Amino acid sequence: GLSQRWEMRASALDGHRRLVQLIDRTDSHAAEKMRVDFVANASHELRTPLASIIGYVETLADEAGEDPDIRARFLRIVLDEAKRIERLVEDLMSLSRIEADKFRPPSDTVDLGELIDDVAAALAGAHNGRGRDITLHVTPGLPMLTGDAVQLSQLLHNLIGNAMKYGRPGTPIRVEAAPAAAGMVRLVVADQGDGIAADHLPRLTERFYRVDAGRSRSLGGTGLGLAIVKHVVERHRGRLDIASIVGEGTRVTVMLRAADPAVILS
Ligand code: ADP
Repeated sequence: GLSQRWEMRASALDGHRRLVQLIDRTDSHAAEKMRVDFVANASHELRTPLASIIGYVETLADEAGEDPDIRARFLRIVLDEAKRIERLVEDLMSLSRIEADKFRPPSDTVDLGELIDDVAAALAGAHNGRGRDITLHVTPGLPMLTGDAVQLSQLLHNLIGNAMKYGRPGTPIRVEAAPAAAGMVRLVVADQGDGIAADHLPRLTERFYRVDAGRSRSLGGTGLGLAIVKHVVERHRGRLDIASIVGEGTRVTVMLRAADPAVILS
């Protein structure tokens, strides 16, 4: 969390008056530390696959590269590591774009049900064979949102993607969208899987925070998915809630604002 930091400055105005200023340094200090940590983490995440690519390519350039089996195997690894770098760079670019848009409210009219259909279809296709069913429960006539369609599809992609990665094979993933009170629309993505221990929950949306880094990496995770989700929710002035029970599963709820709050007065 943020620790309070105050700076006091006193200066003499004249013989018997002094000017005292109390300056709040809280944000600049915490923000600076976060920025330094972020650059260090991002560099580390990029360096690991790069070192591996360099090692394998050097070996391929030697006699070892003449053996067709070794060659095929090493090229596969080089490709996987290069793709990991590509995913990282894409996520880093998404994060910086969303941050750059922070003070520009989104203005597209978005049909959330349609976005859910598109993202679920794309993910179900991509993960074919993993035995993941995505069951959709979208209330008919769901109100439109005012939002950023690209960022909201990223949000859906990351949440449904996590449910597929961390849900138990063979169990369905449930996606719900329904009108809620006070002009909001509720989106829920729920899985039956590992779950997350309570002490990790508050830190999940930090950049590069993972419960099990090895597991996340082997599933193709970058550690940035939920940080992106959090930023998208903030830009939409919505709310994010992650509830989980270890060994049972995880339920992520996102509250978003309907374009015309009057349509769901309740
Ligand atoms: P990653 O790319 O590692 O999945 P995220 O930012 O999307 O990064 O999530 C951060 C961490 O939160 C993950 O590494 C994982 O430990 C945990 N997590 C996220 N979603 C789920 C889920 N649905 N079930 C269990 N753990 C999850």
